[in-house]
Amino acid sequence: MRTQHRGLTLNNLVNLLIVFSVIVTLVVCAIVGYNSDKQSLIASTLEFNRSNAEKLAQMTNDLLTSAKKTLTESADYISQQDLMDAQATLNYIKRSTNMFNSLFVVSEEGVVLLSSPESLGVVNKTLTSEAAKQALALKKPLISEPYIAITGRFIVLVSVPIFDQSGDYTGFLAGSIYLHESNILESVLGTHTNTDSGSYVYVVSNKGELLYHPDKTRIGDIVMENPAVQQVVGGHIGTKVVTNTVGEKMNAGYAPVPEASWGIVSQTPASTVTVSARNLVWNICLYSVPLILLLIALAFVLIRYISRPLYKLAHFAENLNESNQAMPFPKTQSWYYEAKQLQKAMTRAISMMQEQIHTLATEAQKDTLTGLNNRRTMDKVLQSWIDSNTSFCYMILDIDHFKCVNDTYGHPMGDEVLRFLAQKMLELTSYDDDVVCCRYGGEEFVILVPNMNLDGSYLLAEHIRTTIEQAVSPIGKPITVSIGVASIDDSQGELEVMMQTADDALYRSKQSGRNKVSIG
Ligand code: GH3
Ligand code: MG
Ligand code: MG
Repeated sequence: MRTQHRGLTLNNLVNLLIVFSVIVTLVVCAIVGYNSDKQSLIASTLEFNRSNAEKLAQMTNDLLTSAKKTLTESADYISQQDLMDAQATLNYIKRSTNMFNSLFVVSEEGVVLLSSPESLGVVNKTLTSEAAKQALALKKPLISEPYIAITGRFIVLVSVPIFDQSGDYTGFLAGSIYLHESNILESVLGTHTNTDSGSYVYVVSNKGELLYHPDKTRIGDIVMENPAVQQVVGGHIGTKVVTNTVGEKMNAGYAPVPEASWGIVSQTPASTVTVSARNLVWNICLYSVPLILLLIALAFVLIRYISRPLYKLAHFAENLNESNQAMPFPKTQSWYYEAKQLQKAMTRAISMMQEQIHTLATEAQKDTLTGLNNRRTMDKVLQSWIDSNTSFCYMILDIDHFKCVNDTYGHPMGDEVLRFLAQKMLELTSYDDDVVCCRYGGEEFVILVPNMNLDGSYLLAEHIRTTIEQAVSPIGKPITVSIGVASIDDSQGELEVMMQTADDALYRSKQSGRNKVSIG
């Protein structure tokens, strides 16, 4: 019979433990991996932005130096030309360098003499801006603060002085960068906006005013509260995690542009790093899943192999409890200490138990004094022969005057005589294994003789009677027995009838003087 519910087995318990351990390990590794990846990604993003800012600052610085140089050389050239030629030169510089949105020649009184493009409509107008005044006063190359020009545009002015042949100051040549329009800064820095990662670059003046930003509406905003900006306008190179104006965390790198006291900030949203770290960890987990599943499967097989002997022993023990039938002992080899010892102990216990059961069963069948079959066994044999339609005879023996034996020689000697008679009966019927000798009770015995008719049984009973009559019993002289014989065939197969017939025959033997055989 199979057991419906085994509860939690060692195998399942360890399997559960393995799955639980693997999941916990995976989660812990994922968390640790995520955090360490995140930290290293933050560090590398900061480092990337610092080097990017440095590179762009160097490029911008070179650009401004070269712009000043171009303007200085052009100023020398223009100083020797008449206005018409100077205009052509101005147009040529604007077209060929593409550094400035517009170019001017301004007199020492601050009046615009020439402009390129000519269509600006500023010629003959007097410049009143601080930048223009400063350029006229300093008479030196100058990069201005951003300001609103006479044209209404927000610009930065790069100016160089013009001196005539005799070295007298005659005004300045200036190039302007329109901060709100396409300009040289955008050409250089605009390519460094990465829409995928959200990285971008911006330029601030030394007062923290945005000169370039991918979002043009921001140009002109003061962002001095930004710690990276504070550092870069102080002339420092470095990195910082900052929060931008819309509250987004940024990993920023910064570097100054010494030529103009500007600063360049390159930055990447921190969320990009988080997403990258998450993707990285997710991919690692994904790639390791087949390997982990393989390991779990291997562990399952191994655990099954380990728990098998114990499971078999437990299963055996369980069924041993439930069923009376003898079960074959589990064949599985117990290959390790605990299982080996358990199997040994169980084998020992079971064989002891079986021996005891066997002893008890034998004792239950036998008469303890004589060792013959008892009354219960006799009844069973009779019933089985009736069931199998076996033909047999039934003889009942009673010791004559046994009471006298007890009275004369004592009860123990009486027992000896009973044992002696039992032994004799066994000897005299040993020719046929199927003959069954029983102690019916007291000093009465029964012999069941299968497959023999009444005449044959009578002869056997006579042989027994005469042998005993001649044998020396424990009391030192022979005892005698009276016998009654009946056959099942002559009793119409009725046990009670047969037994009564035999009893009647025995009675007749006693009545007719004892030491007799009578048949019913
Ligand atoms: P009869 O010839 O009429 O059979 O006379 P008897 O004395 O044999 O018959 P009775 O039935 O009067 O006595 C049987 C005696 O058997 C009585 C009892 O003490 C004795 N007896 C019964 N069982 C045992 C036993 O196990 N051991 C001994 N020693 N005596 C037993
Ligand atoms: Mg009797
Ligand atoms: Mg008797």
